Amino acid sequence: MIYESIGQASATASRACIILSKDSLESEAAISLVDETKCKGCGTCIEVCPYEAIELKSEETLIEKVLFESRKAHINPIICKGCGSCAVACPLGAITPQHFTSGQIATSLETATVRIPTLKVLAKTS
Ligand code: SF4
Ligand code: SF4
Repeated sequence: MIYESIGQASATASRACIILSKDSLESEAAISLVDETKCKGCGTCIEVCPYEAIELKSEETLIEKVLFESRKAHINPIICKGCGSCAVACPLGAITPQHFTSGQIATSLETATVRIPTLKVLAKTS
């Protein structure tokens, strides 16, 4: 058990060294984008992002001498992994995954939630 743990720790350290030894890193091309004209700053997408890639940024707009402040979601393209969870969760459809449609992601999630109870039933009967 101890040898296994040491082996896993060594492997992890090796992988970390590979990353740290590079001058630059390539990020995933598949990311999601926020349409700021639709975003109302509700923060729902922040709660569902498993990589903490989204933050709300404040914006100030001066209209006829009145200063309006609004918040918009901003996705960090370096951290985003393009999983699409935020796009499905956004109540206003303000987020678009670059390589999957929201419908494709929603279908994948529906399929997964249908399959998981089936797997639990199979596990109990076996
Ligand atoms: S869930 Fe949609 S509307 Fe809400 S902050 Fe995120 S992008 Fe904006
Ligand atoms: S696509 Fe996934 S990783 Fe990227 S911002 Fe949305 S929830 Fe986070």
